[in-house]
Order: sequence, then structure tokens, then C-alpha cells
Amino acid sequence: MKKNDIRQRLETLIAKVHDAREEFYQVAYGQSADQVLGPPASEQQIQEFERKLGYSLPPSYRHLLLLHDGWTGLADGSALVGSPATRNVGTIGGNVMNSSPAMDTGAPLLVLGAEVELRSQGGSRTVALSDLWTGPGKTSAQDGELLVQVRVPALPARSGSAYLRLEYRRAMEIAVVGAAAAVTLNGDGDVEACRVALTAVAPTIVRSPGAEAAIVGKPVSEETLAAVAAGASADAAPISDVRAGEAYRRHTVGVMARRAVETAIARARGEHVPVPANRASGVGAPLGG
Ligand SMILES: Cc1cc2nc3c(=O)[nH]c(=O)nc-3n(C[C@H](O)[C@H](O)[C@H](O)COP(=O)(O)OP(=O)(O)OC[C@H]3O[C@@H](n4cnc5c(N)ncnc54)[C@H](O)[C@@H]3O)c2cc1C
Repeated sequence: MKKNDIRQRLETLIAKVHDAREEFYQVAYGQSADQVLGPPASEQQIQEFERKLGYSLPPSYRHLLLLHDGWTGLADGSALVGSPATRNVGTIGGNVMNSSPAMDTGAPLLVLGAEVELRSQGGSRTVALSDLWTGPGKTSAQDGELLVQVRVPALPARSGSAYLRLEYRRAMEIAVVGAAAAVTLNGDGDVEACRVALTAVAPTIVRSPGAEAAIVGKPVSEETLAAVAAGASADAAPISDVRAGEAYRRHTVGVMARRAVETAIARARGEHVPVPANRASGVGAPLGG
């Protein structure tokens, strides 16, 4: 194929993708793709759109369209993995089954209450993430079992989530520490439910009961947010290694947990906090770093 033909085909494809994206958002949301999204499109709406379009959207694109508003914490984590090249080929299943205590999708998935389906020739079973990860690089999956689904329940109204990681550089980085939060607010704006999970401070990603208890049923205040940070630091069991000392990790995971809760609350209130949340909240290496 000649160079000009390739360029022509590429431009046609890019235009198609652009039109598809814009038209999809008009059909599904009644607004432009660049505007803040409303409720997510249903599977049926996407199928109808694909029928109209005459071809199926690529899998990653479909998943993006199905992303529920409350799952923004998962988008925060996914946006941080590796580099664009890593994200293009890596899968969320591989990230989860890697069972790294520093994985970026783990904490958001844990606070969102995700579970996975493991399937083998003998049948399938559903496993909660807290039962899946058994140690660094280890899972409870048996020989011959393949992860075939990650299921994330929709959150109630007035819910939001966020994930923040402490990083020394903007790409190809591993979390020094990280924290995710998912909150649901009541009619008074107080925190009715909250889950907090911590990254890179224990052999696996772990929930923080101390951080959660510090804010559930309480008004959002400086005092309760400080208690979230203290609770997360107390629940952490970090190690010292070449990337950070134990004391530094213990302190900074509290800072991340507090900011994750604050960001999740802001999103639950309908405020727009860009993805990934750590850069939006001033954490992370500066541009060009
Ligand atoms: C350059 C680079 C940068 C990275 N940066 C980050 C980062 O910033 N944050 C982060 O969290 N991760 C990072 N990772 C880790 C990596 O991105 C994730 O683990 C990725 O999502 C792996 O996806 P994969 O599909 O390629 O899985 P693979 O790498 O192919 O597999 C990972 C492990 O999971 C198993 N596995 C994969 N799929 C399944 C399945 N369906 N069922 C059962 N077992 C399965 C494999 O056997 C293997 O043990 C990085 C990796 C690289 C190479």
C-alpha cells in the first residue's frame, strides 16, 4: 500500500472514530462528549448505537462508555498505570491477577466492592477481591482458573470515589503509597457510607477500618478528615525499601487517604474533579517532571 493510501485510510478512520464518539454522546447523553457526563449509557443503548453505526466499538471504548459516574476512582487508577503504551496493551484482569500491593486499580476496585469471576474447565466461582489477593504476587486462584470478569456494582445516588497515589514522576512509576475512597452522602450532606483502601503499605491492598470509622455518620469537618488520615496511618503496615522509608510511607498514606475521601465527597456532591485525582489535588510530579 502506498504511503498516501495509508495516510488517507488513517484519516478516514480517525474521522469515523471522532464522529462515532460525538454521535454516541449525543444519543446516549443528549450532550456533547466534551461536556460533563450525565448518567452512563446502558448496554442496550450502546448496542442500538452500534447497530446504527454498522460496526462494533472496540472493547476498551465500550468499557469507557459504560463507566458509571460513581466509578471515577477506577478511572483515576487506570489513568496512572505505566505509560500510554502500557495502558494500550495491559488489561485490568492482568493488573488484578498480578496481585501487586502497589497495583493502581486494586484500591479503587476494593472500595467499589468489585468481585471477580474465575473460570476453569471445572466451572466458575465468584471471589471477592479481599479473598483473591493472598500476598505479593500471589492469589487464591487455582491452577487452570482464568479471570473472565471483574464485576463492579453501581453505587447509590450521591456517591463518589477517588484514588490518589504518591509518585515521584508522572509515568512509568510505581505507587510509593496510595489510597482510594468511595463515599455515599445522606440528605444532610454527611457521610452515610465510606470505604477506604490503602496501596503499597501492606503485603496486599487493604481496607482501612480506622479511616472509615473516623468519618461514617459524621459531618465533614477538619476534625473528621484529620481523623481519617490518622486512622489510615494507624492501619498501615509499611516496609522501608529503596523507594521510601516506613515512617514516610505511614505518614503519606494518611495524607493520600484524607485527600481521597475529600475528593470522593466533592464528586458525590457533583463537583467536577479531573482524572487522575492526585494531580488535580496537587499530588504528584509537576508537569515536565
Ligand atoms: C512498563 C510497565 C509499567 C507498569 N506500570 C504500572 C503502574 O504504573 N501501575 C500498575 O498498577 N501496574 C503497572 N504495571 C503492571 C501492568 O501494567 C499490569 O499488571 C497490567 O495491567 C498487566 O496486564 P496484562 O494483561 O498485560 O497482564 P500480564 O502482564 O500478561 O499478566 C500479569 C499476571 O496476571 C496473570 N493474568 C493475566 N491475565 C489473567 C487472567 N485473565 N486470568 C488469570 N491470570 C491472568 C498472568 O499470568 C501474570 O501472572 C506496569 C507494567 C509494565 C510492563
